[in-house]
Amino acid sequence: MGNRFTVHGTRADEDCLYLTNGGTDVFFDVLTLAGSAIAESDWERNLVLHFADGHRHSRGFDGFDLSALPWTADWPAEKAFLLALLGKAMTRHGWHLLTYDPPYAPDSLRRYRAMADGLAAPVPVRRRPRRWGDWRVPPPAEFLERCPAHGIYQGELGCRLCDPEIQPPPWRAGRDARKT
Ligand SMILES: [Zn+2]
Repeated sequence: MGNRFTVHGTRADEDCLYLTNGGTDVFFDVLTLAGSAIAESDWERNLVLHFADGHRHSRGFDGFDLSALPWTADWPAEKAFLLALLGKAMTRHGWHLLTYDPPYAPDSLRRYRAMADGLAAPVPVRRRPRRWGDWRVPPPAEFLERCPAHGIYQGELGCRLCDPEIQPPPWRAGRDARKT
């Protein structure tokens, strides 16, 4: 069980990132850490909240196509932010706050950054999940409150790094906790 991340609907394995459920949790953890540090606009904050609340209620069904994100006419700047976010994550920003070692995250980030870099002008998408909403609209202020322990957006569902449902339990924390 896992999640498939694509760009422009690609199906070929080399053009998509397939992550196990555990790998998806790790991926969204490191993206939330990086994004919470650099988001400034409403669109950027909504993107980071997408990661902060991601893979919480829909485990195994949370992959998405990059071109389906709620891009606006300002998509070149939005794409530049996504690339900056991925670059920030590749510097291992905030990884000292993780209770586990993410051995596969650097490779996932490198591959995803290459995919995002290849994103061409997004076309209007009919099948975008309605719950994603309009990312030009400011998110609720309480979603942007930061976890005192981890500094990331708490999102709608609370700090993901504090969530025992998706973090390895303390007795499994450490080097081998997330080798999935
Ligand atoms: Zn926290």
